[in-house]
Amino acid sequence: MILAILAIAALAVVMGALLGYSALRFRVEGNPIADQVDAILPQTQCAQCGYPGCRPYAEAVVKDDEAINKCVPGGEAVVLALADLLGRDAPSSDGAVEKPKCVAVIDPNECIGCTLCLQSCPVDAIMGAAKQLHGIIASECTGCELCLKPCPVECIHMKPVETTVRTWKWPFPANRPQAPAPSVAA
Ligand code: SF4
Ligand code: SF4
Repeated sequence: MILAILAIAALAVVMGALLGYSALRFRVEGNPIADQVDAILPQTQCAQCGYPGCRPYAEAVVKDDEAINKCVPGGEAVVLALADLLGRDAPSSDGAVEKPKCVAVIDPNECIGCTLCLQSCPVDAIMGAAKQLHGIIASECTGCELCLKPCPVECIHMKPVETTVRTWKWPFPANRPQAPAPSVAA
């Protein structure tokens, strides 16, 4: 009887050690579903969803069941891709018109080189130095509009990206890599 109890206790200790080791050895860093959601988001880090970047929004979608239609730059394509990935119903857009893709342009005659826009851009798409003319790298600009408000002379304007044969893409699937925006004629 005592032998049986000792045998069971030894088995329990071995199994417990094995489980502990596997938990450590095969632990997944972060949340793989949140990784997939984050991969679908456009990485503009523009905070238009109300979260301080794409990753925090991805985490909230997975962990807190946050709505999947809060990504403004992603638009309907991202909503459909997230609904597909998460097996959720795609909320209707209630006729909301999707904003055309735009990039920012600085009016060189007005810019005073205060660097405020440069500090606000989440993707470093603005070049410039103090008291020098600033310029936008159109291929890096995501059109998030975060640089508009800080500009004291309101010399930054959003210009729609022209859809050309070179830039037109089949709109689905949504989570394909974004091609760089073509430069916009001033
Ligand atoms: S340049 Fe302006 S609009 Fe473009 S990504 Fe930077 S902050 Fe956003
Ligand atoms: S915030 Fe406006 S004025 Fe200041 S550097 Fe940028 S574009 Fe120029």
